[in-house]
Amino acid sequence: MSKKIAILGGGESGIGTAILAKKNGYEIFLSDKGKIKEKYKEVLRNIEIDWEDQQHTEARIFDADVVMKSPGIPDTAPMIVQLKKEGIPVISEIEFASWFSEVPVIGITGSNGKTTVTSLVQHLLQQGGVNSGMGGNIGNSYAKLVAEETHDWHVLEISSFQLDGIVKFRPHIAVLTNITPDHLDRYDYNLENYIASKFRIVENQTENDFFIYDADDKIITGWLEKNPVRSKKLPFSLEITIENGAYIKDENIVVTINNTKFTMPTSELALQGKHNAKNAMAAATVSQLLRIRKQTIRESMSNFQGVEHRLEKVLKINNVLYINDSKATNVNATYYALESMESETVWILGGVDKGNVYDDLLPLVNEKVKAIVCLGVDNNKIKASFGNIVENIVETTSMSEAVQMAYRLAEKGDNVLLSPACASFDLFENYEDRGRQFKEAVRNL
Ligand code: ADP
Repeated sequence: MSKKIAILGGGESGIGTAILAKKNGYEIFLSDKGKIKEKYKEVLRNIEIDWEDQQHTEARIFDADVVMKSPGIPDTAPMIVQLKKEGIPVISEIEFASWFSEVPVIGITGSNGKTTVTSLVQHLLQQGGVNSGMGGNIGNSYAKLVAEETHDWHVLEISSFQLDGIVKFRPHIAVLTNITPDHLDRYDYNLENYIASKFRIVENQTENDFFIYDADDKIITGWLEKNPVRSKKLPFSLEITIENGAYIKDENIVVTINNTKFTMPTSELALQGKHNAKNAMAAATVSQLLRIRKQTIRESMSNFQGVEHRLEKVLKINNVLYINDSKATNVNATYYALESMESETVWILGGVDKGNVYDDLLPLVNEKVKAIVCLGVDNNKIKASFGNIVENIVETTSMSEAVQMAYRLAEKGDNVLLSPACASFDLFENYEDRGRQFKEAVRNL
């Protein structure tokens, strides 16, 4: 008799799971409490499985041998609690997909920089002639990649929610970019729980696997002191010399693995800023592990186009550079954006504040920001935080107004930076919508 799987959620990971489960002979029931998008409904009709949306038929869900839960559903949801109580395994799509694949995985997680590092690694592998597929929390689900059976490597961006539902998933190369408090609402407001979740990326690794991480991150190093990992550690650092791993020496990236060295001037990196030097070190370490030619790594690091909405250079108008960093939805991401500004900056920020504390930004704002354009429904905290150090703080209510205001405030040689430090859903659909509106408003100037 075939095994039964219930899939909760009809988004990218649910659909990927359905495709893969179908291929492997499962009896499938997919259920989404909300509305499933038309493009996904079409896939479900094509693969001919049972599904429903805008309801949960509990009898069918509790009849399953295993349940795949989409990352958006919290572990505390009553149905999930009940399923676990009844001994029905509840797993993530990442876990399910890993059951059917022998393809080695490069798994990338962290609070910030996941998408950048994942895209950069994929770019380096492609340029190096490696037949790799990219997915996970970005683009195609891992399950879909596995079902395709076309790649020799899988490069996956993995969120903490996806890691929460793993059992056996084991990346051959794990990357942990950094850990700063985020999503604490899903972790009982306990930072330790969030850290533990991120570290699950290494929990099934063996001595033959690798763990690449930020050695300057006190949360990471503090955890490692108490919790040893089995895999080979390859840290990267901006601050200390690293013998096995990566660091910066005389403005060069130096990556050493088993006495083989790769070096490259940081000035030649396509992505500038300290945080991107870290991202580049992580990606270069992965590439060197895969034995990509050094010349190819160097060329690919300098011709990488970057990722949309992450410090994306949009246009220069009257010698003012407009930069879209709409993906900066927390203070830490904006910190690095401001730090990487090399000219005086007109800074557009605001939106939905997730309990922001702006103190860490004050020295940078003092040094680099000449004017602030607020773009949010409630700007009081921004005005209170920066009112003493920035003379010019103006409030706006739409992206086109904000961009026109920034245009007026900027002078030759300045930057205009959209790096909101806030979520976008007060005025926009999501951060992509916010970024696109910014670019459109800039092009209309
Ligand atoms: P994620 O996928 O983890 O959300 P992204 O690569 O999309 O990360 O970047 C999110 C934001 O964080 C962007 O504003 C980007 O400029 C910033 N960022 C990128 N890499 C880092 C890093 N290593 N440390 C801190 N911030 C970063």
